[in-house]
Amino acid sequence: MTDSTARAPAFDVQRIRADFPLLSRQVHGKPLVYFDNANTSQKPRQVIEAVDRHYREHNANVARAVHQLGEEATSAYEGARDALARFVNAPSRNEVVLTSGTTHAVNLVAYSYALPMLKPGDAILTTVMEHHANIVPWQLVATRSGATVKAAPIDERGELLVERYIEMLTPEVKLACVTHVSNVLGTVNPVREIARACRKRGIPLLVDGSQAVPHRPVDVQALGCDFYVVTGHKMLAPTGTGMLWAKKEHLDAMPPFFGGGEMIREVKFSGTTFADPPHKFEAGTPNIAGFAGMAAAIDYYRTLGFDAIRRHEAALLEYATARLREIPGLRIIGEAADKEPVISFLLDGAQATDLATLLDLQGVAVRSGHHCAHPLMQFYGVPATLRASLAFYNTLEEVDAFVAALLKVRKLLM
Ligand code: PLP
Repeated sequence: MTDSTARAPAFDVQRIRADFPLLSRQVHGKPLVYFDNANTSQKPRQVIEAVDRHYREHNANVARAVHQLGEEATSAYEGARDALARFVNAPSRNEVVLTSGTTHAVNLVAYSYALPMLKPGDAILTTVMEHHANIVPWQLVATRSGATVKAAPIDERGELLVERYIEMLTPEVKLACVTHVSNVLGTVNPVREIARACRKRGIPLLVDGSQAVPHRPVDVQALGCDFYVVTGHKMLAPTGTGMLWAKKEHLDAMPPFFGGGEMIREVKFSGTTFADPPHKFEAGTPNIAGFAGMAAAIDYYRTLGFDAIRRHEAALLEYATARLREIPGLRIIGEAADKEPVISFLLDGAQATDLATLLDLQGVAVRSGHHCAHPLMQFYGVPATLRASLAFYNTLEEVDAFVAALLKVRKLLM
């Protein structure tokens, strides 16, 4: 029997938890155990205060005003671009397009990069383990252009068959896509190896980093991909924030996707000229307060440091996996050798949704369902899984509380 008291936390998790106001609330009269971090993370007070401060002290529109407040708002917004560029080691801040999230960023690449160049017979390669955000936009532009979408397979452990992926990089593939970390399985994909294979064949690679950036340092130059997309709300930042990083050559060649204010140089009815990237892709008033929060979120990660985060999360994953494996009839879906702290599972004789509903009554927030990954559910032949996804502010004691709650609610369903 493994026991949480036998293991010392790798860093001062209680001090960190004190930064997250929501973690101290009760749900249904029980202390909250928040294990739905892959869905959205909780926010530290530093992020909440940055948003609050923006509206209290700096609120104005970006780029349109010469007054002091306008300059402050612009500097907060552009400061987030600098912070994101450093966060993923982008070679230039001008390669960072601020978006409302990953979905927006992938659609931007789909409609601005892929659609204009796709021809009938072309293909886009993705994988069976992708979130719908890295499948459906490609299907939409494939339908319009006569191209097809191919999906590289995985094995039962939830690991991408990398050799198959590379074999599928045939000449008709005009864009390859892969998630850095699976939102359902936690699997970490070998992005560098995939990027190397893509480069050899002259195929651009888009990486969905939504589930990677909350857990590991990312260096887009070292990864060697062409596009890297991120959503803010899973990495401590407010909802409605995110990023597309793309190599300059791609952004220069891509036509604008949305038209409107902020993205133009000059508008005439005889023809409009556009701003340079990244502003060419940022029409309309953005989520300025959200990006003020994004900069604070990145600061927060920098203060903690990914070394400490990774050590603590690895201990959480190991302990939670061991505790869950002790439960008879429990099957973990996703046992890749390289995993982030995301555990999908099924329990014999109980529906995932029923379990999640009963766990909620115990104060435990986990997600049940298809996790926006239908093809992955089809691969495993299940309609849904239960998913516990952990973050650096979770504790071994919470794992114990979660397992105890699971055993209790299982009895109710038997
Ligand atoms: N990609 C992955 C791997 C995800 O986990 C998610 C969210 O669950 C998304 C994309 C979509 O992110 P958003 O809804 O913030 O655009």
